[in-house]
Amino acid sequence: MHLLVVEDEPKMGELVRRVLVAEHHVVDLAPDAVSALALAAGTEYDVLILDRGLPDLDGLELLRLLRARGVTAPALMLTALGSVEHRVAGLDAGADDYLAKPFAFSELLARIRAIARRTAPVTGSRLAVGDLELDEERHVARVGERSVDLSAREFAFLAYLMRNEGHVLTRQQILDAVWGAEPDVYSNVVDLYVSYLRRKLADLDRGDLIRTVRGVGYTLRTDA
Ligand code: CA
Repeated sequence: MHLLVVEDEPKMGELVRRVLVAEHHVVDLAPDAVSALALAAGTEYDVLILDRGLPDLDGLELLRLLRARGVTAPALMLTALGSVEHRVAGLDAGADDYLAKPFAFSELLARIRAIARRTAPVTGSRLAVGDLELDEERHVARVGERSVDLSAREFAFLAYLMRNEGHVLTRQQILDAVWGAEPDVYSNVVDLYVSYLRRKLADLDRGDLIRTVRGVGYTLRTDA
């Protein structure tokens, strides 16, 4: 799934992102409400994870703004304030669930699975662009009857490209979304994984799906 995490504490945000990326999710991290609104305007997320205490806006206000702008993705509110009143306020603002800090990451993952299940469209865990389909449960890319196995990283990378079909993504955007804040990553790792993915997609006769945009980055296009 593609998740938006809005958390202003850098360590906490990175930790949440790493945990989610390890579960094969694609994660965008926003440190404040303004950047969260900008990201949500350009991307359709599957789940929103919002900290209540943000530097520029209360997480509840951010959620109201997102809902007012037509963002319908289910939302999980994170808060240091675990009281019943706060929980009710969160649910009133349009949150689907509420989790008090500190929380166990296993509980965070369980809550995300639960709200995603409750709100899942009929396509379930399948992501498709043209006739290329990603199967999240089996970790394969498929065209018709043929399929290729993908590593976790290849899967996350291809999912990110597919969810942003037609948009040019810079190496930095790809690094942030797919590798997060891992310390020992070089930017040419993106080019390396593009070559891995092209090789695997070539087995599906889709080796030309990932286009290089010279001097910028990469894009996935299904049209000619
Ligand atoms: Ca905070």
